[in-house]
Amino acid sequence: MKIYNTLSKRKEEFVPIEEGKVRMYVCGPTVYNLIHIGNARPMIVFDTVRRYMEYKGYDVNYVSNFTDVDDKIIKAAMEEGVDASVISERYIEECKKDMAQMNVKPATTHPLATREIDGMLEMIQTLIDKGHAYVAEDGTVYYRTRSFKEYGKLSHKNLDDLQGGNRSLLVSGEDQKEDPLDFVLWKPKKEGEPYWESAYCQGRPGWHIECSVMSKKYLGDSIDIHAGGEDLIFPHHENEIAQSEAANGVPFSKYWMHNAFLNIDNKKMSKSLGNFFTVRDISEKYDLQVLRFFMLSAHYRSPLNFSAELMEAAKNGLERIVTSAANLKYLAAHAQGAQLTEEEQKLLEDANAYTAQFEQAMDDDFNTADAIAAIFDLVKFANTHAGDASSKAFVQGLLDQLVLLSDICGLIVLKEEEMLDSEIEALIEERSQARKAKDFKRADEIREELLSKGIVLEDTREGVKWKRA
Ligand code: AMP
Ligand code: ZN
Repeated sequence: MKIYNTLSKRKEEFVPIEEGKVRMYVCGPTVYNLIHIGNARPMIVFDTVRRYMEYKGYDVNYVSNFTDVDDKIIKAAMEEGVDASVISERYIEECKKDMAQMNVKPATTHPLATREIDGMLEMIQTLIDKGHAYVAEDGTVYYRTRSFKEYGKLSHKNLDDLQGGNRSLLVSGEDQKEDPLDFVLWKPKKEGEPYWESAYCQGRPGWHIECSVMSKKYLGDSIDIHAGGEDLIFPHHENEIAQSEAANGVPFSKYWMHNAFLNIDNKKMSKSLGNFFTVRDISEKYDLQVLRFFMLSAHYRSPLNFSAELMEAAKNGLERIVTSAANLKYLAAHAQGAQLTEEEQKLLEDANAYTAQFEQAMDDDFNTADAIAAIFDLVKFANTHAGDASSKAFVQGLLDQLVLLSDICGLIVLKEEEMLDSEIEALIEERSQARKAKDFKRADEIREELLSKGIVLEDTREGVKWKRA
């Protein structure tokens, strides 16, 4: 398996630090609003990396944080007149709902920055003790960037170029820095802001130290993969390396993976530009499986332009796979013969080539676009060779293969099992209660929900009757 490593700017063979195990950290969102579909790109891409690694037999420890203390969260809290934690807790819940709809697996651990302050203060103190950080007069703690000789190795930037570019950026209030390149590890609170006690001042952590500390706590000093969007390469990940390697004295992450942007009109989709759709917006029009399919239809390191046409194409593409799976399921349920014929045996062996093709694409730095092409080839093969005369073992074999490959991509292609009669009846009862209470909105929702599962309701004089469509 080859991974493009931002650190070496090359595709490298993946060799984990510990055999059979993958320790992976993905920088998560800052939770002050609903996530937009740009934020969804790393979630979907790296969830797929994780799923493929698991398929390959690795035990993956996947950590992804929520940044729950930040200027934007504090601003949102002040606007609403609530505590910052009200905002962050609300949007963590909403984010988790979106993730579930996109079939992004929950991380092994989702740490919250605000719960890890002790670890941050400990690492900050280590950095001060080792001469990599200093406390300014007002209690701000800065990282002494030039003290880390390898600074710039991830973003391939040269310190002196950075110095030149940064001089004009030296803003007021930062004049206590020894050097314009130094960055904040801990900063004093401002009026009304959340804060924690520390030896330096009442304050809160800088953004970069959060990830260094959460990664260390849940995965150890050296990890296999650290990932995020390409906007995080500099300064966020560069600074994380400087902090972690200076504090721990060992290499931080072996591989660094970065997804390219999701664009709109060829500009990065972002909250600050206002050119974004939330995942929730998209869910009003599409099943979020379609969004997932859309994201995986491009290689993660290629920019992807969002458009209505591409979403429609994704919908059609996914539907082709879903239809083929439904057809195979029907054939399996109605097949006459149980045993494979000799010819079918040979065809199933031929079909294995699509799994090999899929793996080859994924082994080449997770080329999901080509992996999906292999799934389409399998669909075509199944549509050509499976029919009424096929044995159950044959169609089931094709179906299992199709479901397995789709599942590695996190695509659900087999509709859920049919609802049980008792579940249907419970919903019908809830609906009549809602109607009695004149809650027609809820009553209609239930009718729609049942309809989406193929259950048709009929209101008759004798009560509600239902049938499977
Ligand atoms: P943020 O909440 O801005 O810190 O972003 C959370 C994650 O989403 C980071 O990994 C970002 O790099 C990523 N991200 C934000 N906007 C985009 C975008 N338009 N395309 C791809 N990734 C993005
Ligand atoms: Zn991070």
